[in-house]
Amino acid sequence: MRITVLGSTGSIGRNTLNVLSQHPERYEVFALTAASQVDLLAEQCIQFKPRYAVMPDEAAAARLRVLLQTKGSTTEVLGGAHALEEVTCAPEADAVMAAIVGAAGLKPALAAAAAGKRLLLANKEALVVAGALFMRTVEQGKAGLFPVDSEHSAVFQCLPQDRQKWGQVIEKIILTASGGPFRTRDPATLSSVTPEEACAHPNWRMGRKISVDSATMMNKALEVIEARWLFDTQPERIEAVIHPQSVVHSMVQCVDGSVMAQMGVPDMRVPIAVSLAWPERVESGAQRLDFTHLSALTFEAADNKRFPCLPLAWQALTAPEGTTAVLNAANEVAVEAFLHKQLRFDQIYHVVSEVLEHVTCSAAAKTLDDLFDLDMQARNGALSLIQRIGPL
Ligand code: NAD
Ligand code: MG
Repeated sequence: MRITVLGSTGSIGRNTLNVLSQHPERYEVFALTAASQVDLLAEQCIQFKPRYAVMPDEAAAARLRVLLQTKGSTTEVLGGAHALEEVTCAPEADAVMAAIVGAAGLKPALAAAAAGKRLLLANKEALVVAGALFMRTVEQGKAGLFPVDSEHSAVFQCLPQDRQKWGQVIEKIILTASGGPFRTRDPATLSSVTPEEACAHPNWRMGRKISVDSATMMNKALEVIEARWLFDTQPERIEAVIHPQSVVHSMVQCVDGSVMAQMGVPDMRVPIAVSLAWPERVESGAQRLDFTHLSALTFEAADNKRFPCLPLAWQALTAPEGTTAVLNAANEVAVEAFLHKQLRFDQIYHVVSEVLEHVTCSAAAKTLDDLFDLDMQARNGALSLIQRIGPL
């Protein structure tokens, strides 16, 4: 199987290459892409010898070209945003790992869906921005859609292989959440949280944006929206529960009352390996669970006061369709501002909820252009709000 890895220098991209490197007889890398980190991308090209390497920024692509030439690499370097879609849709690519962060990953992921690829979807924001359109494109393109997010991979593994039967089986989807680094921190001190503290996740090592999302639990809100589309499940049938050990990755409560759970150590190489090989299984390299050393598996309700971003998922899902695109865009801008110390941690919720109130979507906002227009309005709204209120 030949694979294009979109976002190969990121946390998911690197974990994907790690799994691929364990199965050289089974997988071949067709293309690697990244926005920055020229040196790392060059190293990856030397190791995996892809046909193409893509950097949307032409200047970065030029630097990569020079670097690879000096090392005698045969990888061809392409620049420009359109090149992402080219290596995604190329007939030689059988599968695409969509691991770009944020709404920036939507267009190439959609292109993979339209081209009927085996699509391994880590980029949850694509579904948050354009869920209905995305799922229609997957269906029309006859693409195979495999979730990479650990919770959704867990749900996927708990469901029957025949997707037609999912609707008859699911009574409730129960997404687990670790609660992030601030699950027990005094809420009064959340205003002084630093980016480093927010990115220090207790169980997972991830990119900075998703780490902040985990700390606010906006990540779980995005995952509720992701689950709504992946499993065609109404929002009231989706629940989030805190499970600090991150061993149970999520659960499906079936219509007969039976609950299916998927377990494992928290290591993204497991859901990545599942998405690559399903319905077969391949080694992921992850450690195995040792039940004699697990002290306890505990579950508790999420406190909406401590984590006000979480209920925004249900609020946005029951509003007109483009509302989740507004939520996503405002959150991306707020998280970026927080990471640059232009906004306090507790103000992230404030920015997102204000923007949700002021950028209204008409029920007709359904095309990609409509959604990008809402995305832009939300980004502008969030930016001007941050200029007014941030950082202290
Ligand atoms: P990351 O920041 O570590 O990596 C992002 C990758 O995307 C990098 O290769 C970067 O160069 C590329 N990129 C960023 N902006 C780009 C742009 N505008 N155009 C083209 N490429 C761009 O992020 P990550 O943690 O690997 O997360 C990737 C996606 O996977 C996110 O949507 C995240 O929510 C999801 N996800 C991540 C994890 C995890 O454990 N890291 C788990 C579940 C889901
Ligand atoms: Mg997740």
